[in-house]
Amino acid sequence: MHPQRTLQARRANIVTLDVDAIVNAANSSLLGGGGVDGAIHRAAGPQLLEACRQLHGCRAGQAKITAGFRLPARYVIHTVGPVWRGGRDGEPELLRSCYIRSLDLARPHAIRSIAFPSISTGSYGYPVEAAAQVAVATVRAWLEANPADPMDPAGPTNLDVTFCCFSDNDLAVYESLLGPSAPA
Ligand code: ADP
Repeated sequence: MHPQRTLQARRANIVTLDVDAIVNAANSSLLGGGGVDGAIHRAAGPQLLEACRQLHGCRAGQAKITAGFRLPARYVIHTVGPVWRGGRDGEPELLRSCYIRSLDLARPHAIRSIAFPSISTGSYGYPVEAAAQVAVATVRAWLEANPADPMDPAGPTNLDVTFCCFSDNDLAVYESLLGPSAPA
């Protein structure tokens, strides 16, 4: 375990988190929606929609970045999760890709703390237990694959990752996967 690296789950409204980047579970238009997307746009203000218009959409499994505007977070990473169609339509691979592509934006933007909502598990219908397994395994593997670089203090070595859960049930699911003290 790297002492400057944490991986944790907490229950919160993601728009309140004072981290470098929050991840938005957006839809492919990137022009706003319900759930966490709506909450982020309301809290960030109308400039976020203007910035999203310049991005010309985003495919499932991909991620694009904007400023955070009125949010405490400096950046919003917009990713599009898969719609759950029973699990045999590439959903786990697309969900995995959402986490990887989002994390890959950390180093070029000097992001040292990032919070993810439970992507796809709201209106897109992905069962939270299965989605959380993908989320935790993918983030752990990414952190291992992006090891310490003492010459790059802003690099992902020092990335703090939070799984931001919106319900007690979701929090319990993530905590059971992370273990009680949740070291990375
Ligand atoms: P998707 O379309 O990817 O399923 P949703 O926004 O419908 O996205 O749901 C994704 C997750 O985000 C769900 O677990 C939902 O409860 C949660 N959520 C909704 N609002 C917030 C919020 N303000 N902060 C954190 N999580 C949220």
